[in-house]
Amino acid sequence: MCTPKVMEYVQAQISRRDFMRMGGSVVAGTALLGANQAQAQTRQKGFVYRNLVDLSHVLNPGFPLFPGGEPMTSNTLVTVEKDGYYLSRVSYGEHSGTHMDAPAHFIKGGTTAEKLPLENFIVPLAVCDISEKAAKNPDAEVTIDDLVAWEKQYGRLLPNSFVMMNSGWAARASDPKAFLNADAGGTMHFPGFSPAASEFLVTSRQISGIGVDTLSLDFGAASAFKTHVNVLGAGKYGLENVANLGNVPARGATLIVGIPRFENASGGPARVMAAVP
Ligand SMILES: [Zn+2]
Repeated sequence: MCTPKVMEYVQAQISRRDFMRMGGSVVAGTALLGANQAQAQTRQKGFVYRNLVDLSHVLNPGFPLFPGGEPMTSNTLVTVEKDGYYLSRVSYGEHSGTHMDAPAHFIKGGTTAEKLPLENFIVPLAVCDISEKAAKNPDAEVTIDDLVAWEKQYGRLLPNSFVMMNSGWAARASDPKAFLNADAGGTMHFPGFSPAASEFLVTSRQISGIGVDTLSLDFGAASAFKTHVNVLGAGKYGLENVANLGNVPARGATLIVGIPRFENASGGPARVMAAVP
């Protein structure tokens, strides 16, 4: 959407040379934006970005799965060669690949994915990088201290921010064994958000949700899903198995989330991207 008014405003804000250099970048207007304050500010400024980063892994039958999950299958039904068109039947558990956890995933009567408000799907992105400590300790968690340190460096979280953990774990996604990282007793070891940090975010900050580059919002060794319950119980949503978080800034990008609109969905595979200014 490039309304003349938005284009006029944006052109006035940046030099003609910069504008030409932006080339194929898109200047988006009002249609994408919701009612909250942060988005109203975005609308005033115009939605300008220089590049898009894909934060989704490609989902295939070999993608790592949380124990008990339903493996993906794909069967070709018709081909262009034989039938003139190509079509497959695909089956998967809702929590496969890069995917959303809707409140209903853990909360009885919670909002299902297709009913989540659209203004939660285009929001400020905050990335909390704990890759250094996660490289030494696979049980590392995003703590309140990490969030306080983030705000000290980058400023208070904007209203409706979506907070992602970058633990460096996405690099293991092609190797299910390394991604689950289970010990001899079957306990998994991968990073997540601590229950206290998730509680802080839903009670002391206005967030739209949290995301991780691992299989679960709670760390792998958790015996209970406290972070899930904190976040989904507050009506927020989660994203798991997110990719490429090392390629986006800690602050300043806009998260864009798209998910098929299936009825009564507890979540589902999502296309997730970041628009980097
Ligand atoms: Zn999930």
